[in-house]
Amino acid sequence: MPSGATSAAAADSPTCPAFTVRSPACARLAPGVSASRTGLVDALGEHVQLNPSGALVASLLGEWIEVDGLARELAMRMDLPAQLVRVSLDEFLTDLNRRQLVGLNRSFLAEFGARLALVPIHALEMMTIRVLPVRAFASRRRYPPTVLGVIRACVEAYQPTTWIALGGVVAAYLISLLAMPTVASALFVGSAIAAIIGFTSLVLVASAIAHELAHLLVARATRSRPTGSYAGSGVAGVTFSERASVATAATAAAGPLAGIAFLLLVAAAIVLPYLGAPSRLFDDRLPLAQLLGVLALVVYQAWGFTPATGDGRRLWSAVRRRAQGPGSHA
Ligand SMILES: [Zn+2]
Repeated sequence: MPSGATSAAAADSPTCPAFTVRSPACARLAPGVSASRTGLVDALGEHVQLNPSGALVASLLGEWIEVDGLARELAMRMDLPAQLVRVSLDEFLTDLNRRQLVGLNRSFLAEFGARLALVPIHALEMMTIRVLPVRAFASRRRYPPTVLGVIRACVEAYQPTTWIALGGVVAAYLISLLAMPTVASALFVGSAIAAIIGFTSLVLVASAIAHELAHLLVARATRSRPTGSYAGSGVAGVTFSERASVATAATAAAGPLAGIAFLLLVAAAIVLPYLGAPSRLFDDRLPLAQLLGVLALVVYQAWGFTPATGDGRRLWSAVRRRAQGPGSHA
């Protein structure tokens, strides 16, 4: 375990206060990051110089703090209008969040809504001034590089997927009730579809946990110094300092490999009862549908080896080069 990870885990216990409509975000220094008199010290011990205002903000981020309240506190201390402080503070926190120095905890749904509200403006910009929209900022919640930190990040990252799956289950029951001749047959079909959706969502989250834990454990084993874990909407990951190309390649490849291995075990558990009579699998449609769901997730994990993903880019870049710079993530 890298130095600082234990203390970071202990510091993780306070939780972000509940959101309100007016206060959609909380911020806190990322685990392993500490404030100094003139800036921040990152998880690898590197000093990051900040101006006096930045250092003041950093000194107030030791625990989760609601961003509106932080803006009011800063406005009072600096004798400036709160609205002005809030705009600069948002930009500053966004930058620190991108640089893995601060965790931002914002409702994924609110973030999605804000992005959706910008679609007409972006469409207008594309049609009138022919400018492609800038990629929207997606906040990251940051947790310690521990097994519990990674599990928490994965569970939170896939919360939107779980809600979509629940919506699918309700829709399956409603459509079955409308389409089937009797309530009994509708409940049977609805339950079968719900079982497929529920099972696939569960396996998706479990395979994501296997994937990220493998990144974490291999990074520790190869002394790549994992510095944290993070959750965004539908995406979780482990950040680590890359050292030698072999260690980087092993850490990057471990995620998709572990995800695929876990899914193949699940597929084997589904197929095992049918080994004596494989044709029966095609008669029992529920396990067959679950098996197809698992195989689709295998393809999703295997996609991680392609340069279209962060893991794939890191893997192939490490294969090509002997030395890598620090500060990457998986
Ligand atoms: Zn990965």
